[in-house]
Amino acid sequence: MKTFTVRSSQREEFIDISHEIQRMIDESNVKEGICFVFVPHTTAGITINEGSDRSVRFDILKRLAELVPENLKYEHLEGNADAHIKTSLVGSSASIPIFGGKLTLGTWQKIFLCEFDGPRVRTVFVQVIEI
Ligand code: ZN
Repeated sequence: MKTFTVRSSQREEFIDISHEIQRMIDESNVKEGICFVFVPHTTAGITINEGSDRSVRFDILKRLAELVPENLKYEHLEGNADAHIKTSLVGSSASIPIFGGKLTLGTWQKIFLCEFDGPRVRTVFVQVIEI
């Protein structure tokens, strides 16, 4: 298990972590297997989506904010109930096949840490499993 940290700078943002994850696969020397990425947080998640056109990540954040507004009346009184719900919607992990020592992401795909209650320092766990 390897870890790295990501520092977010806004309350909500998607941060491309594909490069760091590929670097860990490079260090592991695994050529064929699975890369399991997990964030141990309740207000930040993981998703894979378009990384080329930045407007896609802004559209996702905007629509999530419309689905789950920040200032509704929630039971959770910490002021970040929306961030917990958004985290459950995107999930806390991703599994990506490794082939030829590389993440087999599609041409436009990137792996994003989804910050919903920043700015904070977040931890990412990466397990590179050889098959
Ligand atoms: Zn909370």
